[in-house]
Amino acid sequence: MKILVINAGSSSLKYQLIDMENEQLMAKGLCERIGIDGHLKHTPLVGDKPVFNEDVPMPTHSEAIAAVIDKLTSAEYGVVASMKEIDAVGHRVVHGGEKFASSVLINDEVLDAIKECIPFAPLHNPANITGINACRDVMGDVPMVAVFDTAFHQTMPSKAFMYAVPYEYYENDGIRRYGFHGTSHRYVSARCAEMMGKPIEELKIISCHMGNGSSLAAVKNGKVVDTSMGFTPLVGLPMGTRCGDLDAGVIQFLMNKYGYSIDEMLNILNKKSGVLGISGVSSDFRDLGKAAEEGNERASLALDMFYYWVAKVAGSYAAAMNGVDAIIFTAGVGENDQTARAEICKYFGYLGVKVNPEANATRGQDIMISTEDSPVKVFVIPTNEELVIARDTRDIVG
Ligand code: ADP
Repeated sequence: MKILVINAGSSSLKYQLIDMENEQLMAKGLCERIGIDGHLKHTPLVGDKPVFNEDVPMPTHSEAIAAVIDKLTSAEYGVVASMKEIDAVGHRVVHGGEKFASSVLINDEVLDAIKECIPFAPLHNPANITGINACRDVMGDVPMVAVFDTAFHQTMPSKAFMYAVPYEYYENDGIRRYGFHGTSHRYVSARCAEMMGKPIEELKIISCHMGNGSSLAAVKNGKVVDTSMGFTPLVGLPMGTRCGDLDAGVIQFLMNKYGYSIDEMLNILNKKSGVLGISGVSSDFRDLGKAAEEGNERASLALDMFYYWVAKVAGSYAAAMNGVDAIIFTAGVGENDQTARAEICKYFGYLGVKVNPEANATRGQDIMISTEDSPVKVFVIPTNEELVIARDTRDIVG
């Protein structure tokens, strides 16, 4: 079975074609500037085919999908003979609200329910729906599955997901913590259990997804019991450009003082804050590391704040789960930045965590970076959200 995985944004669309016989990645690519002019980078990964990297007109997502199918099936760049070889499509959908606690086969009713979640994710869900409709346009009645970023977190108990605001905002408006990066937390926690040779139902795991956006999840016996992102992905840890946790009073103070509109204020908190805002240097941890080495104190502060917050939230999850068996690092920073991992692990002395520096210096593979005798095991596991989407799609369609 061959599955096309689609992650549609408002003006971009990422895709992977995966052969589920051996879970081999056959091709991947990115459409950009959809609705503006259009550019496609298509990389075949089987056979000896060249990369296609050129402008292609894409007035809408439908032309983007058509261009993707054209390249996947073309004699020069293709990896399958025809569209018929693509058995199903798996779509990443950001917000499933309380309606979706797992992946589902897409039908009209499901599409309506995804539409109903648009107020919770006004930028992302419409783009995801556009991607689904574009596939329907181009690929006809091929079965499609929706995999939600929020779904894995739906097991959180109400004491963890409720905000302490008047209860009717939850009842009437769905105001609560939803959490994001669920597909990533799910993948790495399952893989961690596999690596430990234990059923996930017997483990207490803290999953640290540290990328441009960052979140932690406490996964107890295979179920999320808490996570750091909330109603939106703005809160929790300080991130690349997002502020993380913030006293709402600061918003009122700054809006009054500088006359910002709420949109301007949220733009500052989403795009100009986090480690970028603190350092004034960059949102990229590589740039921050370099600047800190060169003596830039604000870059050092930004990094220290990030490490501190990861450790502090992880500590609260150890308390919430009454212990922890394993801590996982994943995503851009978690997978690549050994300094970040080492600095964060220094806070875990009280848990007895011991890092093996040699293992911590390894890159690009699933690896345990704690010593054998460390009572809490620490892992680096490169995330693979596309593979989870493909597996769910296979299981549902299969
Ligand atoms: P996204 O949240 O956009 O999916 P990623 O998980 O790809 O982000 O993470 C992107 C971030 O990973 C970059 O902003 C960069 O800070 C960080 N990163 C990537 N490689 C390294 C590295 N070698 N060292 C430190 N940080 C890195």
